[in-house]
This record gives sequence, C-alpha cells and structure tokens, in this order.
Amino acid sequence: MKKLLPVSTAGSLPKPSWLAQPETLWSPWKLQGDELADGKKDALRLCLADQLQAGIDIVSDGEQTRQHFVTTFIEHLSGVDFEKREIVKIRDRYDASVPTVVGEVSRQKPVFVDDAKFLRQQTSQPIKWALPGPMTMIDTLYDSHYKSREKLAWEFAKILNQEAKELEAAGVDIIQFDEPAFNVFFDEVNDWGIATLERAIEGLKCETAVHICYGYGIKANTDWKKTLGSEWRQYEEIFPKLQKSSIDIVSLECQNSRVPMDLIELIRGKKVMVGAIDVATNAIETPEEVANTLRKALQFVDADKLYPCTNCGMIPLPRRVANGKLNALSAGAEIVRREILAK
Ligand SMILES: [Zn+2]
Repeated sequence: MKKLLPVSTAGSLPKPSWLAQPETLWSPWKLQGDELADGKKDALRLCLADQLQAGIDIVSDGEQTRQHFVTTFIEHLSGVDFEKREIVKIRDRYDASVPTVVGEVSRQKPVFVDDAKFLRQQTSQPIKWALPGPMTMIDTLYDSHYKSREKLAWEFAKILNQEAKELEAAGVDIIQFDEPAFNVFFDEVNDWGIATLERAIEGLKCETAVHICYGYGIKANTDWKKTLGSEWRQYEEIFPKLQKSSIDIVSLECQNSRVPMDLIELIRGKKVMVGAIDVATNAIETPEEVANTLRKALQFVDADKLYPCTNCGMIPLPRRVANGKLNALSAGAEIVRREILAK
C-alpha cells in the first residue's frame, strides 16, 4: 500500500437482519436456496459500501457469506462429519459442540473463491481475505481419525494453501489466517504452529497476514481475560519465532487490552495491523482514542508498516455500533496520518 496508515478490519462485520440473526455467533440463515445465494451477495455489497463510506482502505467481504470463521471453511471439506458432534473445549476455554474428523481430510472444490471474485468485481480497493489458520481449525474439531493435532494441522495447511493460491489468482491482495489459538497453545505454536502456517502460505506472491487476538467480545472470552492479570504477555511467547517467519503482516489486539505495547518490538520488521478498536464493548471509540493507541504503537512500528485495524471481528456487535467504530477508526488514523506528514 502506498497510502500511509492504510485502514482495514480484522474480519467479520455484522450481517443485515434479513440475512441472519444480529449479534449472534453461528446464527442460522434466514433465507434458503437461491434467495440465500442472492442475499449473501447483496449483504456483501452492502458491507463493502459501509466500509468504503467509512473510509476503510483495505476492504473485505466482512465474512457475509459464512456462518462462522472456522466452521464454514471446514463444512466444505470431505473427511469431516457434521452430523457426528462432540463437545470439546475450544481454546482451552469454553465447551462447544463441534463436528468430527472421520477420515482423510481434503478439499474437493474451492470454498470462497467465487465470493472473492465477486468482491473483486465490486471494487478496485485492495482486498483482504480471511481464512482460519491450521491450529485454530484443529482446535474447533473433534478428531477421531488422525489422532494427532500436529498431523491434522499439516493436512489442513496443505488444503489452505490450495485455497489461498486460488484466492490470490482471483485478485485478493492480502490473505489473512486467523489464529486465536496462537494465544493459548504456545508450545505447539513454536513446535509446529508457525511451521504449518508457513506451509499454508507456500508459493504465494500476494501479502500474507496472521491475526492473533483474544477473541470475540463474547462472555467466555471476557471472563477469560479477567483471569489473565494486569499484563497480558501471551504475544511474548510466540513473537520471536513469528518474527523469523515469512508472514508479512501480524494483526494484533491493542485497544483497551492489557498487552504491553512494547511487545510489538519483538516483531520489528513486520507490518503490524494494530487493533485500535475494542470489539468487546458497544461504546464507540472517539477518533482521538484511536489516535492515542496508534501513537503508542508508533513507538515500536515504523510508520510505513503500521496498519490501523480492529481488535477482532465485529459480528457480535449491532450494525450501528460497528459502523460507528469503522468511522472512528478511519478518523483516528487520519489524525495520526496528518501528524506524521506534517513532520
Ligand atoms: Zn480475532
């Protein structure tokens, strides 16, 4: 990106109420068949229009065509039985009913490529596409086939790489892998998590990002955060290895978080998507609050590598709130952009 401080969002944005129940994760679709297919496209267009109106530079589909950032991708793979469900503890934190891996996993056909092509047709802005990362995928499943988290992660990495290459060919500028699990399973991240991520981006020429957050603003996550103490140093465990990886961009949670900002120093050289919008509150940040967070981050990121962003996806928020936050984000970025250019 040539523009200084290009603004983007971490991932999901609220869906229109005629498409899915607002403020709900895994919300069932309200339409069916052809109406659903058309409805998803209409929602994608609206979501894009909201982003453009708010001045978001790197736009996305806002995940309008998926029910959930992990399970929708998995639904399209063979080897996973969605009828056979087990209760597992996701991110070592909360119980969820998840599908079971019953055989070899493979991708029979592209998952999001048509959606990405559709988004590409609608805008000439740079676009970012989010995919779940291998570790977060295995953490959202019950595995009765491979019986090894690492082995299954390598299989998913191969599949993600196939999808990513086709997304790149469809004109996606940045492919982002969502890895909230990186904030929990540090030993695995260092043993094979980052390695599987690098397998997922193998051979890509477009930019690549990894999004590592403290989760959506749902109760299980906000309760967990309360147990983390006054300083959240999770990133410290994985940044040294991530700094050496071939991932271009790291997307982080910074607004209202207890992550010491100086930890960003550990990934010096990477582009950093600095979360300057809290997704766990309906309070809309002021542009000055956003600017303050960006100024703090600028102590540890070179200006040409700082990408203002949201802490995480905004699907659990009311649409009005999410739009207000998008506007605050780009207004806050503009304040700091002017300060930098005036120097
Ligand atoms: Zn997130």
